[in-house]
Amino acid sequence: MIAEAPLALEKEFNPWLTAETRFNEAAEKLGLDDGMRKVLRSPAREICVHIPVMMDDGRIEVFTGYRVQHSIARGPAKGGIRFAPDVTLDEVRALSSWMTWKCAVVNIPFGGAKGGVICDPTILSAIELERITRRYTAEIIEFIGPERDVPAPDMNTDEQTMAWIMDTYSMHHRQTVTAVVTGKPVNLGGSRGRSEATGRGCLIVTLQALKRFGLEPSNTRVVIQGFGNVGGMAARLMARAGFKIISIIEYDGAVYNPHGIDVNALLKHRKETGSILNFAEAENMDRDEALFLECDVLLPAAKENVLHSQNASRIRARILCEGANGPTTAAADQILADRRIFVIPDILANAGGVTVSYFEWVQDRQGFFWNEQLVNGRLEEIMVNSFKDVTGYGEKHSVNNRTAAYMLALDRVAFAIKLRGIYA
Ligand code: GLU
Repeated sequence: MIAEAPLALEKEFNPWLTAETRFNEAAEKLGLDDGMRKVLRSPAREICVHIPVMMDDGRIEVFTGYRVQHSIARGPAKGGIRFAPDVTLDEVRALSSWMTWKCAVVNIPFGGAKGGVICDPTILSAIELERITRRYTAEIIEFIGPERDVPAPDMNTDEQTMAWIMDTYSMHHRQTVTAVVTGKPVNLGGSRGRSEATGRGCLIVTLQALKRFGLEPSNTRVVIQGFGNVGGMAARLMARAGFKIISIIEYDGAVYNPHGIDVNALLKHRKETGSILNFAEAENMDRDEALFLECDVLLPAAKENVLHSQNASRIRARILCEGANGPTTAAADQILADRRIFVIPDILANAGGVTVSYFEWVQDRQGFFWNEQLVNGRLEEIMVNSFKDVTGYGEKHSVNNRTAAYMLALDRVAFAIKLRGIYA
């Protein structure tokens, strides 16, 4: 039995299997017919490229990249591109399907896609990263475009990466096409509020969840895993809203202060020292133990498979707000449900990013740009309504929030496919 455990865990950690389990459950509950299940389950298109890149020392290296377009039933495919050494096709597949469901949950007119390049950005120079980005873009160029597939930042990619993709695409098309990617710098057609949108979305849905527990930000203890674009921004915005951020967890350890951490001071400390550890106003803590601190809100905002069958029973949070994509394995879902933890599932909780990406795409196509107040106001409206849609659907059909979000999304996409019909 013991010898089988690692294999079982390996399976549990395959995001595509997690995605399938949740898909099957929602499809079953919706009573979707077999044909529709087949259409919705598989990605519509999977592109794999092997890209030669000249390295700084004159060597030629070949990198493997993927772009998976899960669905274009409701609009152009949409989703980020990640650079990481452990990217797999199954991971990109799962992430692409989550983008389809995410866009459907917040009801924006996009399908879903995801891209990934297997590389280690920590050992690449800026020039090497630029060459990888441009060659990857050139290899998938006929499959992307404002009406086809619109990439965005994800793990280890940022607005500079998006500027390179936009430029490469534009050079090939002999005109500047800003709407081909979102998450660009603001002075290159990016949207105000985009860089903080995912964190802001997490804040908005958490505030909605607090009402159900009679909590106010000032008496709400938050543990955040990840201090990057999503976690760092959520921490800042939540601290500003009066929440007590009692622990921040990073890859090299955690810091803890039961009275609340001064997030801006911690950001400054990390900038100066390269780590969140040894911060004067908090104590260092083991990163795994910090995940099990007693708190009101746990916000995993780093990567997949953080909560799983082996540790979910140790979580002592009332609300789980999934800032990352896929931080909980399917096997952990039931454990969290049995313990009555209020889950705000990833396809709702982190949808603020793609929602403001949608605003960016709209602004680029109109050539007319909104102020930050307008962006944030419209984001809030969409996130609050989507939270109500998901929780209302869950109550109506007696299912938990995650299943409700999947059912709502599958139903919307299936409806679009039925109306369009199957082209023969
Ligand atoms: N990578 C982000 C996500 O997973 C943003 C995607 C986008 O804006 O297209 O939601």
